[in-house]
Amino acid sequence: MITGKNYIGNQLSSNGDITYRTFNPKLNIENEHIFYEASSKEIEKSVQMATQAFEVYQKVSGQKKAAFLNTIAEEILALDTQLIEAYTSETGLPEGRAIGERGRTVGQLKTFANLVEEGSWVEATIDTADPSRTPMPKPDIRKMSIPLGPVVVFGASNFPLAYSTAGGDTAAALAAGCPVIVKSHPMHAGTGELIASAIITAAKKTGMPDGVFSNLNSSGIEVGTKLVQHSSVKAVGFTGSIRAGRALLDLAGQRLEPIPVFAEMGSINPVVILPKAAQTKGENLAKTYAQSITLGAGQFCTNPGLILGIKDEALDNFVQTLSNEITAIEPSCMLHPNIIGNYEKNKANALQQNGLTKTVEYANNVAINHARQAVTAVEGKTFLSNSILHQEVFGPFSIVVQCKDADELTLIISNLEGQLTGTILAEDDELTAHKNIVDALQNRVGRIIFNGVPTGVEVCAAMVHGGPYPASTDSRFTAVGIDSIKRWVRPFSYQNWPNNLLPDELKNENLLTISRQINGKQTQNSI
Ligand code: NAP
Repeated sequence: MITGKNYIGNQLSSNGDITYRTFNPKLNIENEHIFYEASSKEIEKSVQMATQAFEVYQKVSGQKKAAFLNTIAEEILALDTQLIEAYTSETGLPEGRAIGERGRTVGQLKTFANLVEEGSWVEATIDTADPSRTPMPKPDIRKMSIPLGPVVVFGASNFPLAYSTAGGDTAAALAAGCPVIVKSHPMHAGTGELIASAIITAAKKTGMPDGVFSNLNSSGIEVGTKLVQHSSVKAVGFTGSIRAGRALLDLAGQRLEPIPVFAEMGSINPVVILPKAAQTKGENLAKTYAQSITLGAGQFCTNPGLILGIKDEALDNFVQTLSNEITAIEPSCMLHPNIIGNYEKNKANALQQNGLTKTVEYANNVAINHARQAVTAVEGKTFLSNSILHQEVFGPFSIVVQCKDADELTLIISNLEGQLTGTILAEDDELTAHKNIVDALQNRVGRIIFNGVPTGVEVCAAMVHGGPYPASTDSRFTAVGIDSIKRWVRPFSYQNWPNNLLPDELKNENLLTISRQINGKQTQNSI
């Protein structure tokens, strides 16, 4: 049941004065529930409880954490239609998307449960002592990953489940042994509260310490700001705009004790279409890209906002087919009037730039809060000299850059800001012929795709969802997949520590039968 209250640990609480409602963009009306923004007292209490919970939770075994994560997954599924109804009424997204995203969220929780139950993820590394070494005896050193402490997670507007309350950041942080305080996204506070209730039920059922999870409502930037500034918070997870992600990074950097902010931010996801591919399969590619650009009203961080090619007849045909195909697609509802407001403003701003031409924009009447998709085109040198054209227009919008030759295309890629993904559409032999382009792209992105679309982020061990700034604030980490757990831990060494006082992961006897590196060799043997 949605109460509109905050979860401060296991307790529902609403002693703040600021209230707000969520919005149904399809019906263009406010939803019924009233939400209470977390007060300063509630913020303080949630952090205090998380700090106390950390003392216990950091030592909870992998098996018990796995039970907690698996129970969260079960409790989310048990919310059933209540959750799906809240999701669709707060986002305007269809039921199929809600069910798909719920599946992904549950899958992520179970993947992290398996990871911590198996246990080798801590990367236990043991260098045994050599007392006979001269001139100095070698000490016994043993290293493993340990959790950072309380983590603040900002819910993302565009993924109310998979990147929000119990999304990838939360699942990874809880798996690592960090208590989590979620700053709920105001656009889907009801969905967030339902998911929070599932986490709290799971925490109680599996005996987790009170305070291991809190969910704070907010309708402005104050709650998030206070949380990031709080000295007991040790890391931040965020998905959203560059403006907000950068503000949080700066805030965290100004603290007496700066902390890491893992922000996954805007990206225009360059797609390079090479000349032969444009000629041999340009028509099919245009059809595929019309779908990719408009998928989910373009509200994906991997939306293809930039298509680069070398100007010739085949590229002109590609643009023409893309324009025809995209106008044949029915516009979709965007998440919120603010999001569509930003979309229209940013699209208009791009279209005001000298040299950018509109090849097509959906012209028929559209229902309220539905986005008019658009394709635009520009010459390479104009794009290169105008950084406004490099900015994300969050929504179903793409720019095709018509370069004069391969050198100009390479130069443009080399000058692009960091991106989550880069895609090459090519015939096999073109990859070697255009090695410079491929190399340039690799230096600017976190994931490179061959003959596909960037939308659709597989959740698997090999996935990198991150990239050079501003795609993310730290390109050494991924926000998706099991390695995302590494954001919430630090390496820690024990020197000459008594065997019986070491954590099980590092004892001589391999009690957990995990894979460890002992004196340079990966093994499951005991010492
Ligand atoms: P946002 O502006 O990035 O905000 C995300 C969250 O951060 C919000 O909950 C907001 O809190 C908080 N926040 C914003 N500025 C802050 C600041 N200076 N200090 C502390 N907290 C701050 O994203 P949004 O509201 O979800 O959507 C707005 C735009 O972000 C979209 O139009 C789109 O351009 C972009 N976006 C991009 C992606 C992507 O994947 N690339 C994803 C989502 C959104 P309050 O709402 O409580 O104020």
